[in-house]
Amino acid sequence: MIKFKNSLTFAKSLDKNDPLKTFRSQFYLPKVNGKTAIYLTGNSLGLQPKLAAKYVEEELQAWADLGVEGHFHAKRPWLDYHTFSKKTLAKIVGAKPMEVVAMNQLTVNLHLMLTTFYRPTATRFKIITEAGAFSSDQYAFESQVKLHGIKPEKAIVEIKARAGEFTLRTEDIVNEIKTHGDQIALVVFGGVQYYSGQFFDLKRITEAGHSVGAYVGFDLAHAIGNVPLQLNKHQVDFAVWCGYKYLNSGPGSIAGAFIHEKHATNFELPRLAGWWGHNAKERFQMKKGFKPMAGADGWQLSNFPVLSGASQLASLQLFQNAGMKALRQKSELLTEYLLFLLNENLEDHFTIITPKNVAERGCQLSIMMKKNGRKVFDLLVKSGVIADWREPDVIRVAPVPLYNTFEDVFRFAEIFSRALKASDRLKRSDA
Ligand SMILES: *Cc1c(COP(=O)(O)O)cnc(C)c1O
Repeated sequence: MIKFKNSLTFAKSLDKNDPLKTFRSQFYLPKVNGKTAIYLTGNSLGLQPKLAAKYVEEELQAWADLGVEGHFHAKRPWLDYHTFSKKTLAKIVGAKPMEVVAMNQLTVNLHLMLTTFYRPTATRFKIITEAGAFSSDQYAFESQVKLHGIKPEKAIVEIKARAGEFTLRTEDIVNEIKTHGDQIALVVFGGVQYYSGQFFDLKRITEAGHSVGAYVGFDLAHAIGNVPLQLNKHQVDFAVWCGYKYLNSGPGSIAGAFIHEKHATNFELPRLAGWWGHNAKERFQMKKGFKPMAGADGWQLSNFPVLSGASQLASLQLFQNAGMKALRQKSELLTEYLLFLLNENLEDHFTIITPKNVAERGCQLSIMMKKNGRKVFDLLVKSGVIADWREPDVIRVAPVPLYNTFEDVFRFAEIFSRALKASDRLKRSDA
């Protein structure tokens, strides 16, 4: 491990030696008061690749030139658009191309997967998940449980951190799964927890779920494009994600899903159906009787949103060029440097609730403020930092290896330190 130094010269030397340094110039960087912002919110909305406009423009042009014929004769025929992202998406999540598909939005995909994989019976009806999951996921579980006529408080089991701790211990998750045993229909966790930044142990959680006969799925909203994933190898049944966080596909852009190959040709699996999931060879015969395609494609409902998919392809091109391995290497160093700089700070002001262990986190650090949280955050914003405030007291910062620099991290830590000191003075003058 490199011996870090708290200096701008040192940060710049890390940037100079960064094998991925050319990628930053392939993104648009937002400005605050005319100056390039320190953007640490790629966990919420990834930045725009410059290539996105070209890809979207090409589809607009194809639409202008060809009209409906674009489905067949556009450079990237719209009819096949869902296939163009498969190779790269599969690499990013550790899957086979037939196991992944870009479609819909995240919460919609979660519902589609719950419809298939949450099939409660009188004795096996529980969903095991983490406490404090993203609201949308909680609502999805609650409404699915109700759809089966079951009371949510009876069926949904949320695993909490131990008293005084902020993240879950894998052994506690595994034990809880064993305790509820064959009452569990489904285990669903985040990949990386959105609030704490904890990267769960997908392998052990999946094994534990399967050992009691349950299905196991993950919401990878904060994990995809951020941490290494091996969904196929770890036998995960399903996963869902959104496209606009680390995948940089644009606001509200197309999401995706993974369904393990072991389910690929199990056409008996119940699912919600639409014509785009129907056997492609006879899709346009408009006949009665749904025959799903094999693999993840068989869960598609509607024809593909080409404009949103086009900007995703632009971003995936960059992932393809950089490679997840190199991205993760830089990410570990970048976040490790941030952690080092934060630890040089006034520690009585905050606690970092994200696990310190590299294997248990992605790029995000969640800083829980012990005092003056909102004031400090407002000072950060005034100084050109774009970060993220989560009620009641957490500042989330996520240096993204594709476009953030060690200098960004250094400047952030400097501004943060100044803001902590200034907030102390503010408080004194208040008194
Ligand atoms: C961002 C995020 C969402 C948002 O859901 P959408 O359907 O994309 O609006 C849901 N769940 C998690 C865990 C998230 O991080």
